[in-house]
Amino acid sequence: MDIKLYNTLTREKEIFEPIDKKEVRIYSCGPTVYYYAHIGNLRAYLFMDNLRRVLRYNGYKLKHAMNITDVGHLESDADEGEDKMAKAARRENKDPYQIAAFYTEKFMEDLDKLNIWKPEIICKATDHIKDMEEYVKTIIKNGYAYETKNTIYFDTSKLDKYGVLSNISAEEQKAGARVEFDTEKRNVTDFALWIKAPENHIMKWDSFFGKCYPGWHIECSAMSRKYLGDFFDIHTGGIDHIPIHHENEIAQSKGCTGHIPAKTWMHCEFLLINGGKMSKSLNNLYTLADLAERGYDPIVYRMFNFTSHYRNKINFTWEALDSAKVALNRLKDAYQKHLNGTENVEDSVIADYKNRFLEAINDDLNMPLAMSVVWDVAKNNVKSKKFADLLLDFDQVLGLKLDEVSKVELPDEIMSIINDRKIARENKDWAESDRLRDLLNEKGYNVKDTKDGMEVTEK
Ligand code: AMP
Ligand code: ZN
Repeated sequence: MDIKLYNTLTREKEIFEPIDKKEVRIYSCGPTVYYYAHIGNLRAYLFMDNLRRVLRYNGYKLKHAMNITDVGHLESDADEGEDKMAKAARRENKDPYQIAAFYTEKFMEDLDKLNIWKPEIICKATDHIKDMEEYVKTIIKNGYAYETKNTIYFDTSKLDKYGVLSNISAEEQKAGARVEFDTEKRNVTDFALWIKAPENHIMKWDSFFGKCYPGWHIECSAMSRKYLGDFFDIHTGGIDHIPIHHENEIAQSKGCTGHIPAKTWMHCEFLLINGGKMSKSLNNLYTLADLAERGYDPIVYRMFNFTSHYRNKINFTWEALDSAKVALNRLKDAYQKHLNGTENVEDSVIADYKNRFLEAINDDLNMPLAMSVVWDVAKNNVKSKKFADLLLDFDQVLGLKLDEVSKVELPDEIMSIINDRKIARENKDWAESDRLRDLLNEKGYNVKDTKDGMEVTEK
């Protein structure tokens, strides 16, 4: 079955045809590792994972690269402000390399917790400074750059058109531009490729232009080219990357290789909190750790994300997360019921559901529609192992670990009653065991004594 993907570049849903039949090449803009990823950032990586899983479900082999930005990303995407890594280093009284190592590890842990399949290649900007320098030198040689006292800039006026993704004219860009720091910049849309490092800058490298550090955009161009070649299938990122970062990647590529580096450009919309922006000042920058503190398994957050299409905004509220928690438990429960079911279903019924599921995911990753098919299977009154197998098959795309029984974090008070009951049972004090079971029931927990021990679940 065809896969249709929305391409920001053409503003159309297109039938996906890989450049190389054997392998789909994807590049995803990764995190800037200066702090913990918040749940908005993580939505972008859940989207990336969703794309990977859908392509794999359709039988494609993937070569997927994601960068780790550990240098050069200034506070504003448009070359303004301080380097985010340097600022974090000051905040935490560490050096930028320690900051990068710490938050990279935390990010990887988050990916694991969310059951996100990691890309085949994860590449760090600071490991690729030479590749970036060579890329910049080629741009200069091809006549697309100019030098000011401290910076090598990309000259966007040399392009046939700048702004192919966002489709805004130079005039509109001028109107929206802020006051420039570097008055030597020739055009409002020009951006830094290679920057002379101030004396006190820790991250700097010897280069043809003196001790420098790279601009943020060049890392993605240099690394995607190194690992995926001059022209690859899909480039992904958050929607905020469209107007600057990805326009600049395209500009650099045109300056280096003469063409746009990827065929399909896919962007994930933002997560809102209570209908508004997430921000430090509003104290609503939630991380996975914040969710765990309130008792939510990270997979619940994964489930929550399937309630919206990736090209639509999604609104995070604690009530919505609660609904996702209930829904996930119901789904797991339905899986277990089917697993123990003894009824038969015709293969044609299974094939029909599978086809509907495939149609939904292949229609530009329509997960809300795919979930409606999942629920039709889950809620089917006929209880059959075939339905359980089908749900597990779907779970290759969903990644919800449907066959894992939920590990509910029980409060200390409940754990203590459970322990007392275990002791009572070991002592064959059945009256005390029954009393403690009733107490657990009263406190909202079901107790089942199985051959493997006591199973306590929330009612
Ligand atoms: P950063 O680490 O700041 O470069 O951001 C990592 C990714 O998170 C980028 O792809 C952003 O587009 C994405 N992102 C940032 N904020 C949000 C949000 N509120 N919702 C969804 N994605 C976001
Ligand atoms: Zn990037």
